[in-house]
Amino acid sequence: MTALLTEVGEGDEVIMPAYTFVSTANAYALRKAQIRFVDVDPDTMNVDPERIEAAVTDRTKVIVVVHYAGVSCDMEQISDIANKHGLWIVEDAAQGMMSSYNEKPLGAIGHLGTFSFHETKNYTSGGEGGALIVNDPTLTERAEILQEKGTDRSLFMQGMVDKYTWRDVGSSYLLSELNAAYLSVQLEYADQINAERLHTWAGYYEGLLPLMHAGKIALPHVPENCRHNAHMFYIKTRDKQERSDLIDYLKENNVTAVTHYVPLHSAYAGQIYGKFIGKDKYTTIESERLLRLPLYYGIEKEDVAHGIKIITDFYQK
Ligand SMILES: *Cc1c(COP(=O)(O)O)cnc(C)c1O
Repeated sequence: MTALLTEVGEGDEVIMPAYTFVSTANAYALRKAQIRFVDVDPDTMNVDPERIEAAVTDRTKVIVVVHYAGVSCDMEQISDIANKHGLWIVEDAAQGMMSSYNEKPLGAIGHLGTFSFHETKNYTSGGEGGALIVNDPTLTERAEILQEKGTDRSLFMQGMVDKYTWRDVGSSYLLSELNAAYLSVQLEYADQINAERLHTWAGYYEGLLPLMHAGKIALPHVPENCRHNAHMFYIKTRDKQERSDLIDYLKENNVTAVTHYVPLHSAYAGQIYGKFIGKDKYTTIESERLLRLPLYYGIEKEDVAHGIKIITDFYQK
């Protein structure tokens, strides 16, 4: 829907970080846009604003930011770039529900913001699902038509027209009622879920701090003006080999730790639909160091402590 609303088409360029999930790029690749992948800031794995600016051309239409691990991108700098060049900002806030930047909720800063309620996210509709936040009022009316299969059914439901008809392109973007019901209860408990996740996150952070101080691993960085939602806890090992050895050691000790995105510019479709602009200074090398630790609502304190112990053992050997 963001690609339709920003009217991205053949020959238009969309800038986004190379380190993200395929959905971020697919939306625009489907509309035949050229994806311009740029490098990330190794501290947060979020897009580097300076790399965005360097990738802007007169074909650029949209900047898509991804708030990795629920930690906000540098929205002040990115908004300045977008304003200067007259570009749309779309926030991929799939991981960012309940997070904020300078006290503003993620998803409410750009022209458009997207959330995911996939089962891997903090709040889930029990399967596939998502939401689009329309912050630019000039896009609202069309968004309501696109999401209802291109009809003005929402006007009909409000009693504004006496029958609804086909007005535009569109699709079935709405959540099913069962999925919406599943999600709705979790949203009622959003504060409780968020607080518990943050507690778990802080437990990992404190427990692993000695290893960071010893120079063995890196821990996530949350900039001062960002409030995060503990979507994920990750560490960074020295390199790919060390990560692989640590995964094996954790597995032997019943801890499942997983890697994350393969940068999109190195994937088969990423090379067809996009291009990396500038130097890949951090994206690939940092992605190969990153390891996600188990974090979900209801995880036992003992399990977190066990994970910390096994990682500490690994580095003491
Ligand atoms: C999960 C995720 C998506 C995709 O969400 P879907 O609901 O599966 O389409 C997109 N971007 C990021 C950064 C994600 O983490």
